[in-house]
Amino acid sequence: MTMQGDAFLRCIDPQCGLEYPIESTNVQCTKGHLLDVKYKKKPSTDLKEVFYKRRNSEGSIFNESGVWRFRELLNFCQIDTENIEECSKYLVSLDGAEGRQSKPYQMSKAAEFIGITGKNLWLQPEGYNPSGSFKDNGMATAVTHAKMVGAKKIVCASTGNTSASAGMFAANEGINCDVYIPAGQIAPGKLSQAYQFGAQILEVDGNFDDALKQSLEDARNHQGYTVNSVNPFRIEGQKTIPFRALEYLNWQSPDWIVYPGGALGNTSSCGKALMELYEWGWIRKIPRIAVINSEGASTLSDLYNGKFEDEEIRWNKGKPNTELISRYYNHLDKEGIRPKTKATAIQIGRPANILKGLRALEFTNGVVTTVSDSEMLDGMSVVGLNGFDCEMASGASVVGIKKLINEGIIQKDDVVVGILTGRQKDAMLPVEYHQNPKNRFARPPKN
Ligand SMILES: [Zn+2]
Repeated sequence: MTMQGDAFLRCIDPQCGLEYPIESTNVQCTKGHLLDVKYKKKPSTDLKEVFYKRRNSEGSIFNESGVWRFRELLNFCQIDTENIEECSKYLVSLDGAEGRQSKPYQMSKAAEFIGITGKNLWLQPEGYNPSGSFKDNGMATAVTHAKMVGAKKIVCASTGNTSASAGMFAANEGINCDVYIPAGQIAPGKLSQAYQFGAQILEVDGNFDDALKQSLEDARNHQGYTVNSVNPFRIEGQKTIPFRALEYLNWQSPDWIVYPGGALGNTSSCGKALMELYEWGWIRKIPRIAVINSEGASTLSDLYNGKFEDEEIRWNKGKPNTELISRYYNHLDKEGIRPKTKATAIQIGRPANILKGLRALEFTNGVVTTVSDSEMLDGMSVVGLNGFDCEMASGASVVGIKKLINEGIIQKDDVVVGILTGRQKDAMLPVEYHQNPKNRFARPPKN
């Protein structure tokens, strides 16, 4: 049982605004702009009660799922039923595990390190997703759309978390998954989950951008379905990350939501979630988004903070200076500057969602800053001292909050939610950190 015609796709450029039916697999409009999933119906705030009750799942995996529990707020399948059999025909879920354990926690040792009152700091570990990162939130929805359009194969370019998540859902749904990687540049260990889930690895001569280009061509020419974060349905699932945070705060907006910045899919989805909730009357205050880049992969920070050609790039109500971005990328190419950080999850020079990210920052009066690798390792390690696992890129949220407090941008009595994007997949990082007694939280082995 579905409601027809409520959901559709629309170009993000307000001057363009091209629309497509929800079954379209385009990731761009014909003029090359990114697309949004749009909904005509305004979801009633009575659903807050429904979502709360679903936490007692009563045997429904779609209530257990931290993604599908909020299904009315991402209802691109246009389902209008609680019937589990009916839901199963449409919704893709790894037995309700995606998002199930991800919610904000208070972590006193992290709060002490940051210098914020413990009750004001919330950290949300997305590493407790079945494939170990936040990607499962958006992959559940992207693969749902792939199933809706009858795709036989999903395709991505990835060197880590995306391929793990795509491979996992594809295997569980019995569809094929192709993963494009730059030949000879990826440590095989980073692909171990993709191999484990039976994905087909395809090596491409060139760099990551070349691998992405080839994966998009493959999708176009051989009926593949693209699941990189340019896919607007990925963004829909990732909206549930702030949904879960807000629900645990009784829909009282925090002052800040803080993310590590890579391809900017998270920034984009958080911005879209907040725009919709505000428009629908679900929240009265708009939290500010803070994006934390690595110093070695600081495209957004450089452009946003006017460190390139002295211009601070803004969404500018839908008229961003895209030529400035092009000139910045040409500058990177000309100078041979490649993104470089040990936090590989955010080692990205050309964030695919930069325009949606800028839109999110404008809507939320956001800020962007950078942190160093050694700071991120401290952030990662202090999370561990609270009994929680996280990857190095997640440490950026922790030390980013600390830096913004020290700079007086985040106030000491602000309520802050930091997103920890994934669990540790590089086993040697904590070992090396703790073996060096000079590191702030190191506990070296004794003999
Ligand atoms: Zn357009």
